[in-house]
Amino acid sequence: MTQTPEDALKVIQSHPEGVLQSELWKILDVDSRKCSRLVKKLLDSGMIDRVEFRKDGIKTFVLKASRRPVEPVLILAGEELIPCIGCDQECHIEECAKLLDWMYQLAISDVDQ
Ligand code: SF4
Repeated sequence: MTQTPEDALKVIQSHPEGVLQSELWKILDVDSRKCSRLVKKLLDSGMIDRVEFRKDGIKTFVLKASRRPVEPVLILAGEELIPCIGCDQECHIEECAKLLDWMYQLAISDVDQ
């Protein structure tokens, strides 16, 4: 099966606690050499971090998605910060008027630019 670095990244991102490289190639259904190449590409591009780990005396690595600073453009609508930051309400995202207002502002600010 052909897997891309993006496929590997999705698997790694879906495991916030990290995924063992010795498990990743099984999940992706590729051989360990192909998995190593995918991991190297992700490491070189800074998308993941790798920490050495021993399982049953055998060296492997824990792979985790890199934490990156949030792009301001993703949390701002014009000059309005997304309301979810600091929100302490019980979240019903489908019905949230504050979020809807913010999305409306986002749509307007996109048109203004
Ligand atoms: S969607 Fe609404 S209720 Fe949920 S965190 Fe954001 S602002 Fe708060």
